[in-house]
Amino acid sequence: MMTWQDKLRQVDPYEAGEQPQIKDLIKLNTNENPYDPGIKVKEAIQCFQSSELALYPNPDADELKHVIAKYHGLNDNQVFLGNGSDEVLALTFLTCFNGQEPILFPDISYSFYPVYCHLYHIPFQKQPLNELFEIVKEDYYQPNSGIIFPNPNAPTGCLVSLEFIEDILKHNSNSVVVIDEAYIDFGGQSAVPLLKKYPQLLIIQTFSKFRSLAGIRLGVALGNPELISKLYDVKNSFNSYPIDRLAQVIGKASMEDSEYIQNNAQKIIKTREWLKKELKDLGFVMPDSYANFVFVKHPEYDAETLFHELRARGILVRYFNKERINQYLRITIGTQEQMQKLIEEIKFIL
Ligand SMILES: *Cc1c(COP(=O)(O)O)cnc(C)c1O
Repeated sequence: MMTWQDKLRQVDPYEAGEQPQIKDLIKLNTNENPYDPGIKVKEAIQCFQSSELALYPNPDADELKHVIAKYHGLNDNQVFLGNGSDEVLALTFLTCFNGQEPILFPDISYSFYPVYCHLYHIPFQKQPLNELFEIVKEDYYQPNSGIIFPNPNAPTGCLVSLEFIEDILKHNSNSVVVIDEAYIDFGGQSAVPLLKKYPQLLIIQTFSKFRSLAGIRLGVALGNPELISKLYDVKNSFNSYPIDRLAQVIGKASMEDSEYIQNNAQKIIKTREWLKKELKDLGFVMPDSYANFVFVKHPEYDAETLFHELRARGILVRYFNKERINQYLRITIGTQEQMQKLIEEIKFIL
């Protein structure tokens, strides 16, 4: 006989980076933006009437959707919104990856992808990055039920060109190809222009990194209207109102402050390039990152030990105890002052 426990779903969940409540900790472990979301967001929050919260929000966040569509030069019916891009990804896996063949993604990539596959029983095959942590495009020419990878990749920071993405699209006209652009605004070129030519392309972005809004949970999918409408059908079979009223207002205010936000990204890029050089001078090796983090290894110093030593000195970075990358640390780019403190502490430890 089956007990009630036997009838429970067993899953291995994604392990998010820790969010400790320690004062004065320099938090460089989950790729948050060190800068304020901006004055427009602040004003929007101050003007927000709490009485509005008694009513359900607009189910598809139409006004916010419109400003996002305009920003990218797309039509409103090419934009889908979700409660963080993690939710957009969850709905994308459920909507797009329903074939018999496995879906394909890199062996070193966002570790949420295999979790969704297990949750939905989607077969998948991990394609190994080469020794330089680059995606090998020929690995994506075989029959599949879908392809997904971040660009720039996480946690490596490696960027591929639009020609590279177009080549994969040309070899995969019968599968949805998802590009997760969580970090695209830190020096990459978005695949949005390819949407005109490739109806099977889906691009996912987030307000969490570039727009300093990890706290409100807002994610975006951009794609062809037919694909986007299927996402809405699945979303409406799950949760009619994923974006709350306050998030809709804040998201819109952020879109109207894009110049300020772009300026913050420029500061982060400048700090990143400074940090790369400092770390290289100390003997670290790393793939060339185009994201708001670096992924580094020291040939003579154990990564996990360094992780603990930094933590003891009030600096939290990310360590993944996983095959191929267990000698690396992923360090989020904070302010220039935070990075100077990081370099000081690393010098002391080494
Ligand atoms: C941070 C991140 C996300 C999730 O972003 P949220 O919108 O905060 O859920 C998705 N994909 C990648 C590759 C990320 O690094």
